[in-house]
Amino acid sequence: MSLYKDGIRFTCQKCGVCCISQSDTMCVHLFKPDILALVFFLKIDPKAFVDQHCLAVRDTFLFTDCTIVQDRIELRKKRGGACVFLEKNQCSVYAARPFLCKAGPFISGFMYSRLFWKLFKSYCIGVGTGKFHSADEIDRTIAREQAVDEEYENDLCVDPFLKDIFKKSAVVRREIKIDATYDRYRKSKA
Ligand code: SF4
Ligand code: SF4
Repeated sequence: MSLYKDGIRFTCQKCGVCCISQSDTMCVHLFKPDILALVFFLKIDPKAFVDQHCLAVRDTFLFTDCTIVQDRIELRKKRGGACVFLEKNQCSVYAARPFLCKAGPFISGFMYSRLFWKLFKSYCIGVGTGKFHSADEIDRTIAREQAVDEEYENDLCVDPFLKDIFKKSAVVRREIKIDATYDRYRKSKA
């Protein structure tokens, strides 16, 4: 049964806690438009941006019915797990923050996993407060995420900029257990 079939009340209280990783597997994946927006915002050379702020990762997702391997580019974390852009509990790149930061918590990683949603609720003071978000609205946000994600996966195979980042970076390898079937996790594509 959907975790959000009755909708969710949520308004971000800007406490900054979710910008500090609560587990090794919590991270901010960057899509190509995110990288370009941050490069433009920071007025920095793309290569310097990648060197200073990004990690290339190869994630192995262990679903209950299969295993999926995905290559990703994500934001680096500081010691203690804080996002590289978190300063005094505030996002220093707020106007250019990545797609997943804008869409959260209505992203597949939280909405399709009881385990990750329970973890998020345990530290987010915004859940249960403020604006009501219907199941349809949440579905639309997740569908947008999955469309961007699909485009990114295609880009990663053909886009010279993204391919180059991967080729030149030391790739971090991780295993992530997901308490759902692959179909369930990607259900808005079905
Ligand atoms: S933990 Fe929740 S309330 Fe705090 S910044 Fe993140 S989304 Fe907003
Ligand atoms: S980019 Fe900004 S909003 Fe996103 S995790 Fe980092 S500090 Fe938080």
